Amino acid sequence: MRVLIAEDDERISGPLRVTLESAGFVVDTETDGEIAWYRGDTESFDTIILDLGLPTLDGLTVLKRWRAAGRTSPVLVLTARGRWEEKVEAIEAGADDYVVKPFRMEEVVARVRAIVRRANGLASSRIGFAGYVFDARQMQVTRDGVPVELTPLEFRLLAQLLHQRGKVISQLELTEHLYRQDADRDPNSIEQLVGRLRRRLGADVIQTRRGFGYVVPAEGQAS
Ligand code: CA
Repeated sequence: MRVLIAEDDERISGPLRVTLESAGFVVDTETDGEIAWYRGDTESFDTIILDLGLPTLDGLTVLKRWRAAGRTSPVLVLTARGRWEEKVEAIEAGADDYVVKPFRMEEVVARVRAIVRRANGLASSRIGFAGYVFDARQMQVTRDGVPVELTPLEFRLLAQLLHQRGKVISQLELTEHLYRQDADRDPNSIEQLVGRLRRRLGADVIQTRRGFGYVVPAEGQAS
């Protein structure tokens, strides 16, 4: 799950990044409105956390431009206390949720998780699949209550596939959602990760659509 934080105050973006990363998210940060707009316009994020008071291009304008161009990445707006008009305007412009500063980091993480769930049509942070239970909050996978040992990358890959269950996701898209922009990205590593997950969870849990990508079949979907 990949998150962009567009916030010029590093006292906010720094701790937010650390908290989201320890919750299993891949996080990129931008401090400039124009650059944040460009990245949201050209890249795919599972959630964008958007401060309304950004330099060079304000957050509300950024959001309106994305929506006018049909960009559907979910957006969580950060707004200053007392500015209720801002909240209303942001939601009418297409924000999915907002948080008022100052906030607790845990609140933002909970809201981001809820946004990701809703964007993928899920009602709960627990997803059952192939006899396992995936729990986004506990950051673990269990079978009959027994945790399965997964590395953070394996967990993230599984999360990405499960949140879009039934949909074939390309190696490139998985790479984009698993690694930060400045990370050394090697699409072959997805193949290796899938191999490791199959060994841990069973060969049929993740299926290959040769030339297209990978899919965790939806319940009842022919395999
Ligand atoms: Ca600001």
